[in-house]
Amino acid sequence: MDEQTARREIVRVGQLMYERSYVVSSDGNVSVRLDDGRIVATPTMTSKGRMTEDSLAITDLDGKALNDRKASSELAMHLLIYGERSDVQAVCHAHPPHGTAFAVAGLAIDQPILSEVILTLGCVPLAEYGTPSTSELTDAMRPLVKHHNALLMANHGAVAYGADIWQAFDRLETLEHTARIAILSRLLGGSRNLPADAVEKLINVREAAGYLNEGARCQACGYLHETRFTCPTGERPAVDNYAKASANGVNKIALTREELVELLSQATQLGKESH
Ligand SMILES: [Zn+2]
Repeated sequence: MDEQTARREIVRVGQLMYERSYVVSSDGNVSVRLDDGRIVATPTMTSKGRMTEDSLAITDLDGKALNDRKASSELAMHLLIYGERSDVQAVCHAHPPHGTAFAVAGLAIDQPILSEVILTLGCVPLAEYGTPSTSELTDAMRPLVKHHNALLMANHGAVAYGADIWQAFDRLETLEHTARIAILSRLLGGSRNLPADAVEKLINVREAAGYLNEGARCQACGYLHETRFTCPTGERPAVDNYAKASANGVNKIALTREELVELLSQATQLGKESH
């Protein structure tokens, strides 16, 4: 992409992220890798809803400034992704509320609940918490970047990337929409996962159609439970974050002392009556 087009589209994507409440205040950042390898990035401390084309920063792939604008402090996250993925030319980072709620709850978006998401985005893993703008954050993300097209960052937000800025934005949008549907379905009594054979068929379809190749089965790590598929790279074991979060207390119930005494006395009463 040429610089002028990149400037125009970054401003447009920033407005969309702001209008859709994926960011507030000066949250989030967007970047594009130009054909010549330079990076155009959103400036620090600026609302993504009010950027102008001439406000954008330009850096090299090491983050060295090439104009007089200061890039976002979270540029390191973008540079990590460009370094790990030669196919990626754009990155969108935001704090969309439903996706970020998963990240705050310690959950990945990796349950097979929507057929089209299995076909296109794949599962979204959760990178462990790292202080923003430090190597803690990029170190936590590094092992996941290769196998996934979007990540959650614990107690922080989401990042999505793609071959161009619209693919990156669309992936962010799908991530947020999926998280929202997952939360709503749980409010309605619980979401039902697709059965393993349906997941296998979807993974076969997406590979035949070229949406995601076999190497991307790691994208489906959260989906592979009970299927006959295994992660072909073997680099990252399947982590059931939902089960992990449940073990951490998401599914535990808390009772007051009075409620516990009441329950126990009811149980004792029932026991007596049955004799
Ligand atoms: Zn952030």
